[in-house]
Parts: sequence; structure tokens; C-alpha cells
Amino acid sequence: MIFELAPYACHPEGTRGRRHPVAPDATRSDYQRDRDRIVHSSAFRRLEYKTQVFVNHEGDLFRTRLTHSLEVAQLGRSIARSLRLNEDLVEAICLAHDLGHTPFGHAGQEALNGCMREWGGFEHNLQSLRVVDALEERYPAYDGLNLSFEAREGILKHCSRRNAEQIEAREPGGVAARFLHGGQPSLEAQLCNLVDAIAYCAHDVDDGVRSGLITLAQLREVPLVAQCMAQVLAQYPQLDERRLRHETVRRLLSSQVYDVIATTRAALDAAQPADVQAVRQLPRLVAFSGEMQARMAELREFLFGQLYRHPQVVQTMAAAQQVVRELFGIYQSDAAQMPAAQAAKAAGAGPARHARAVADFIAGMTDRYALREHERLTGRKLLA
Ligand code: MG
Repeated sequence: MIFELAPYACHPEGTRGRRHPVAPDATRSDYQRDRDRIVHSSAFRRLEYKTQVFVNHEGDLFRTRLTHSLEVAQLGRSIARSLRLNEDLVEAICLAHDLGHTPFGHAGQEALNGCMREWGGFEHNLQSLRVVDALEERYPAYDGLNLSFEAREGILKHCSRRNAEQIEAREPGGVAARFLHGGQPSLEAQLCNLVDAIAYCAHDVDDGVRSGLITLAQLREVPLVAQCMAQVLAQYPQLDERRLRHETVRRLLSSQVYDVIATTRAALDAAQPADVQAVRQLPRLVAFSGEMQARMAELREFLFGQLYRHPQVVQTMAAAQQVVRELFGIYQSDAAQMPAAQAAKAAGAGPARHARAVADFIAGMTDRYALREHERLTGRKLLA
């Protein structure tokens, strides 16, 4: 089958380019190249030992940020192909979307944001951009991975006004301009944002039940899950619990994927954008139907109440936040406790740059590295 990109997709030959110009590759498009650079980065490898809900050592079967990113990329590519969007760009953005996450998921980010309050805060989307623009040290001539504008635009999916102003000052009309002047990113970027939510809702259901913190019986209160489960049981009344969970999660994913494809196709048919420039001027086109949005909100509400605020999760995350805060305090007062290269970035800099170097170091840590460092520096073991 010959696969042709839609006119409104990102076409590599129309790229707005890289911050440091490079010669074209003989065999790969710019977006394939972006994806390859991401896969070979250190930050990408570290995703294997970072978690979102469950701390890495709690069980080998739970998702890590690496497996989450692969699932997001799989969902993204499959929808991209069906909408004739650029799969390589979608894959690149999806694989990079969590590179800026701290250890210990959102709890870690909250703690680090608190530590950085005086110095502009800490925000994981912005940090993902910082990783690919500045923190990776792989190329002789520049810092960062030197990704295409379109990949960077997709990675910066949210941004506060204050941060956007700072990026805009360095890069006028660049990736932050839309947060100041309105407008949407490419359809590929819009898609990655949405498949992230599809992936984590489904896998938190799966891992949540597997962990025993929530049960399939409780999930019957959630209409979208109840509907998928009822379909499975109607077809396979004798199914054991494990297969019932897998098949329910599979249908949960499919129902959301088909909903996005149908809703987005209808929006594209109505708007008929001529190209990606037209897409940027239109309202958001990649979306769930109103019905599915309501169903997903119910599911998220359930997960918040029953899983993310489960006493066991809350207790683990409180300890994780203490690890982050104490590490921050120690490195702030004694930068020499960090590895030499990182200490050198903090040394002699003003207080804001010093704090940022500390935050970059902590954000780059895996869960287990953070725990080991904390034990080395304090002699205490907060999470066994
Ligand atoms: Mg994610």
C-alpha cells in the first residue's frame, strides 16, 4: 500500500529546521532523525527506572516511564497512520514527551517545583524541552539533541506565560509563541497530547488492579469501564479475572482510539485545512467526542480518588517528596556533593543558576538513584 501524507500533515521538506543547521541525511527524513536522536539519548534510557504512580522497585510488572512512552508512541503512530499524519514525527514527540520528568512521578515534580519556587519553579514539559535543547551532551558542536522545530513544538505541550516570555525572548516567533499569541501546534503535536491521556488512564487501570489497590468490582462504578467489561462478559461469561482485565483494558484503549479517529476526521472534513500553517490558525482539531470526554473525566475522577490518593500511594509519595526536598537542600548548600561535572555548572554561578543546576541534576535522576543518593547523604532509608 502506498502511504501518502495528508496535505495538513507535517511534511519533512517543509520543516522550519533546527537551531543548528545540519546537512540533510542520505536516507532518513528530519523527523526520523529526531526520533533516532531521542532513542539514543541518556534521558531516554533513564525513563526505564522512572515511574508515575508506582515507585520503580515495587514490582517488575508495573509500567515505567519507558514502557509508558512506548505505549504512547504505539497509540500515536496507529492513529497518525489512519489520519495520514506524519508517523515519524508523532513517534519522536511521543517518545520524548516525558524526558523532563523527575523521579517519583508527579509527586517528585511537585516537590521540586516547591524547592524552585524562588527561582522560576519547575515544570516537566519545560524540562523536557530543556533536556532536548540543552541538557543532553552528545554532539561535538552544540548542547542538546538539536531537534527539528516541529518536534520541539510538540514536546512543549503546556507552558506558563512567564516561561513562554523567557523562551520567546531567546527565540522570537519560536516554540513558545503560541502560548503568548494563541494558535495551535501541528496535528501531530495535538495527537501526542491526547494519546498520552489514553495510555495512562488505561495502564493505571491495569496496574492499579494488578497492584491490588483497586479492584475490577470497584471499576464497575465507572461507566466507560463498565461498558467495556459488560461487552467482554457478554461474549466470554466464564473469563478468569486476569484475562477479563486484559480484554477490558484492550477495549478501553480501542474505544478511545476509534473515538479520536472519527471525531478528528469529521473536524478535518469540516475545516479542510490546506496545510500545517492553516492548522496552526484553526481551533484544536484532534479531539475526543463530547461523549468520550465526559466518560474519560469520570474515569480520571475515579483514578484520582481511588488510586492516586490511595493511602499506600500517598504514603509512598510523601516519602518520595521528602527524598527530593532533602536532596535539593543538601546540594544547594554543598554543590560538591554532586558529581564534578554537575557541581561545575553550579559553582560560581548566581543563586538562580546554582539552583537550576541542582534541579536539573535531581530531575535527571531515576527513582532508585535518588533513593541511593539520599541514603548516602543522610544515612536514612525512607523507602525500603
Ligand atoms: Mg506521559
